[in-house]
Amino acid sequence: MLTTCKRFDADVVVCGGGPAGSAAAIAAARAGKRTILLEMRESLGGLCTNGYITGIAGVVDGICKEWLERLDAEGHAVMKPHLPTAEPEHGKAMLEHMVLQAGCRILYGTHVVDCVKEDNKIKSVIAYCKSGKIEISGRVFIDTTGDADLAFAAEVPCEVGSAEFCGLNQSVTMGFRLAYVNLQKYNEANAAWKKHPDYDPNDLKKRSLIVYKEHQAIAKGELHDLLSPGNIVYPMPVGDPTCMDVTLDATHTFDCHCDDVVDLTRQIVDQHRKVIWFVDFLKKHVPGFENAVLESFAPMNGVRDSRRVVGEYIMRDIDVGMAKKFEDGIYQHTEFYDTHVPTPGHHTALRHIHYKEPVEPAICRPQQDQDDYMMHPLVKPEGYEIRTNPREYCEIPFRSLIAKGVDNLLTAGRCFSADFHANGCVRVIGPSMGMGQAAGLGASLFIDQNLCAVRELDGKLVRKAMMESGVALDKAPGGYWEHQRNFKGTLVVSPADMIEIRAEDGGTATMM
Ligand SMILES: Cc1cc2nc3c(=O)[nH]c(=O)nc-3n(C[C@H](O)[C@H](O)[C@H](O)COP(=O)(O)OP(=O)(O)OC[C@H]3O[C@@H](n4cnc5c(N)ncnc54)[C@H](O)[C@@H]3O)c2cc1C
Repeated sequence: MLTTCKRFDADVVVCGGGPAGSAAAIAAARAGKRTILLEMRESLGGLCTNGYITGIAGVVDGICKEWLERLDAEGHAVMKPHLPTAEPEHGKAMLEHMVLQAGCRILYGTHVVDCVKEDNKIKSVIAYCKSGKIEISGRVFIDTTGDADLAFAAEVPCEVGSAEFCGLNQSVTMGFRLAYVNLQKYNEANAAWKKHPDYDPNDLKKRSLIVYKEHQAIAKGELHDLLSPGNIVYPMPVGDPTCMDVTLDATHTFDCHCDDVVDLTRQIVDQHRKVIWFVDFLKKHVPGFENAVLESFAPMNGVRDSRRVVGEYIMRDIDVGMAKKFEDGIYQHTEFYDTHVPTPGHHTALRHIHYKEPVEPAICRPQQDQDDYMMHPLVKPEGYEIRTNPREYCEIPFRSLIAKGVDNLLTAGRCFSADFHANGCVRVIGPSMGMGQAAGLGASLFIDQNLCAVRELDGKLVRKAMMESGVALDKAPGGYWEHQRNFKGTLVVSPADMIEIRAEDGGTATMM
């Protein structure tokens, strides 16, 4: 048994330095609290940097906006109206810079494995690192490990996977980075494809150029199976459009248990193999990728969800469809349901949920039988299909960041308290950073008010603190989202299961 060889102490201990943890650490330290950030890897940013998930979804505001703007000022971001991208290596360095500048201490290579509890309070966390076993005490703890590692160790109830899919997690996709891509040629090929006689926006096989080419390659015996449901190719600010770096997340591994080391290993091995097949396919069949070189697999596996903390409020999937607002709302969420189907056979995500009755302002229709088995292979759902209205937004309540049963534990990011489909929708980077910022500010207020338990903290004060730090929670999201609200057109369900706003001339409100 290793004995503790080093001890640290802080006011706020943040476990996990992904998008959520980095924002939490910055917010707590800027609020004047002695803050320490524990990260098991050797850089910050989590899936956004180490997972090569470089496109930032959701409303970009607060610390997330500041980070992107600082990157952009140095030429390391691509500032698009929707899904702006951050170059991962500079993204890591900029986060590190912001965390240190705020006055927070970082410990890298530090894996949080356990905690010491007294009554209902965490006294310290136990971590393993090159120094051996270390103990970090604090007044308030924030679990931003993505997998709820600290909450789990503190015996907070956690949920994994969905009931409908018998506990399976969403499918897993490892990101990868390619060099020497002629993105200009690829974009021109995509534009030409939309005028090709075979193009059909209402047929999943003929909608995306990549998927069409995959089916052609399968027919010729050059690809054994569909590997990707069509892709967003995320441009990196490296090179020029005719020869540049891009990141992709494309291939899926199914039937995943993301809290099980044996299964996680299977996923990683499967993803390595599928990425290599997919890159070979791109090089051979897709214009613009002829000279592409696989620079690297993402150093972090593409786990979309694993454990979810059970909190004071469990955000429900229907809250998103109903565009629910909360008095303690700390982030405005605009994106659609995005549950990547856990089982094989259906190569896309569920962009709808099921509910007993139609609700406003969601786009609702009675359950359709078509595709039922592929999308819901284990049980046939009942009721109405509910899709989010792209002109609306919901809010994340601060209470969904407060872990149940422990007095001084907050959480943020993809392990926050939500049901399976709410998590599938809200887990993305913009909201993860927003939640992190709110958790950091909430931790600071908890200390200032000398409260016994975080659940006693009035979440309206955290909302106020978010607004005072410049987050616009008092008006509907602007930019891309304002464009969606004002775009004249009809809301239709696309074959990719999404709601598109289509104008009479066939154009859509989507801007990339
Ligand atoms: C394939 C895929 C595609 C996606 N596409 C998009 C997209 O296009 N746009 C978008 O916005 N979002 C996307 N997402 C979602 C998004 O990347 C994540 O949900 C988001 O990064 C969550 O942030 P987080 O900080 O909660 O967790 P993570 O990013 O997982 O970060 C957790 C951090 O904690 C560290 N950690 C974990 N356990 C411990 C421990 N025990 N001790 C110490 N440190 C620990 C990890 O090393 C990591 O740095 C995608 C996700 C996947 C997997």
